[in-house]
Order: sequence, then C-alpha cells, then structure tokens
Amino acid sequence: MRIHCPYCGERPAEEFTFQGDADVRRPQGNEPSQMDEWFDYVYLRENPRGRMKEYWHHSGGCRSWLIVERDTDSHEVFGVTAARERKLSPQRKRAS
Ligand SMILES: [Zn+2]
Repeated sequence: MRIHCPYCGERPAEEFTFQGDADVRRPQGNEPSQMDEWFDYVYLRENPRGRMKEYWHHSGGCRSWLIVERDTDSHEVFGVTAARERKLSPQRKRAS
C-alpha cells in the first residue's frame, strides 16, 4: 500500500503509523453518568470491512498527521488530507 502524503508525495505505507479511526468522537463532559460513554470511547472500536477514514502519522517522514480514506479490505486509498485541515464540528472546537 502506498499513501500520498500532501507534503512528501507518494510514499510506502511502512513510513506511516496507523493511529485509528478518524470518526470516533470524544464525549462531551465528564459526569459520572457518562462513564459508559467514556468506556466506549477509550476501549471499544468498530472493525469495519470497507471504506473508512483513519488517522495515519507520517512517522518516517514529515511527522504530519493525516486522514486517509481507504478500503480496509482491498487497501485502496481514496484520498488523503492533512488532519489540521479537517473542519471540526462545533462541539469539537476548542474555546479560544
Ligand atoms: Zn509527509
């Protein structure tokens, strides 16, 4: 599998480190009633077969965090964007 880093160009997957599902959302708040929600966020992950968005770190290159959309079955890569370019939903934006 080859990944097209927006900064370095097309590189072998061995230069990258898989960092998990890019669509997992951190729970809002820290109330005791949300512990099940936090448990799911920290420990439980889906393992879908097919197209999904994932975080990859270009650990053997420019060290950028990327969002790679790929098929987990065929490893076909559909697109790569820099994670810093991701538009955050309103609940994920940090207060400034
Ligand atoms: Zn890179």
